[in-house]
Amino acid sequence: MTTLGTASAEPGEVGTGRLHVGETRDGSPVGLPVCVVEGADPGKTLYVQAASDGDELNGVGVLQRALPQVDPTELSGTLLVVGVVNYYGFQQAVHRNPVDDTKLNRVYPGDPEGTTSERIAHATFQVARQADLVLDLHQGSTSRMIDEVRIRVSRRHRLHDKCLELAKVFGTGYVLDQKGPDGQLARAAPDEGVPTIDPELGGAVGFDEGSIQAGVRGLMNVLGYYEFLDHDVELAPQVRARGFTRHNAPAGGLVRFRADLGDRVSRDDPLFDVTDVFGTVRETVTAGEGGILWRSRRLPQVATGEYVCSVGTDVDEY
Ligand SMILES: [Zn+2]
Repeated sequence: MTTLGTASAEPGEVGTGRLHVGETRDGSPVGLPVCVVEGADPGKTLYVQAASDGDELNGVGVLQRALPQVDPTELSGTLLVVGVVNYYGFQQAVHRNPVDDTKLNRVYPGDPEGTTSERIAHATFQVARQADLVLDLHQGSTSRMIDEVRIRVSRRHRLHDKCLELAKVFGTGYVLDQKGPDGQLARAAPDEGVPTIDPELGGAVGFDEGSIQAGVRGLMNVLGYYEFLDHDVELAPQVRARGFTRHNAPAGGLVRFRADLGDRVSRDDPLFDVTDVFGTVRETVTAGEGGILWRSRRLPQVATGEYVCSVGTDVDEY
């Protein structure tokens, strides 16, 4: 029998329950929703978590769509799933944990005696470290972004190639291969020997069905390739960026994009104009470096210096 919090499952069964991480301000227990899918046959363990950022719902959509399709009697190995990591942020549909104003994916591996975010990170990290592979489902928050997968360890990390392989298997078509900030699960778990990726499933307010389906395909690819399920997976070449350049607004006004998400841009190609409300172009911003238009703001209005878009640079294919 495998257990995760109050969820448990015998071989060939699915169990759901709660992973206790503390109490709310009125003393009510806080339990993250968890699921165990215990395969009829032995095999690897995959850990999947979603909504580490409380406004990033596409990963929850992936679990909601994909888990009913996984038949435990056909499965080899174990799936351990935490459906909502940022419990407090999810209640209010905000990115950070409002109790301690912290971004959860900056405090891994967490602290059992720490703040609410550190305690949640610790509790989920104890699950992640038991696994053979980890998927930490994210998205570009509520901005607009292509579907991509991030590798957050450095290229010199001993697990870099294993993470790169996992990203290729997930197979959204785009990979950002760039060491991430301290405290990310996709950095902390590889330090414990567990290959981990950070699929970034588009960007949306609420659900984006196209990005959710990309995530469902990615999860099913992982289950097939690593022999949890008996289906063949053909690996496709992935477009990889190793740099990421932010562009901010040089003037206040309204942004008008000159390239679409996913477009290849060359050095000095126009990325966007900033116009006044009467349509007069005040500034045009060009790509300082060639690459792929990767992410952009959702709302058109900007103040001087405000974030507008990001270009994935240093692009190749693997
Ligand atoms: Zn995120």
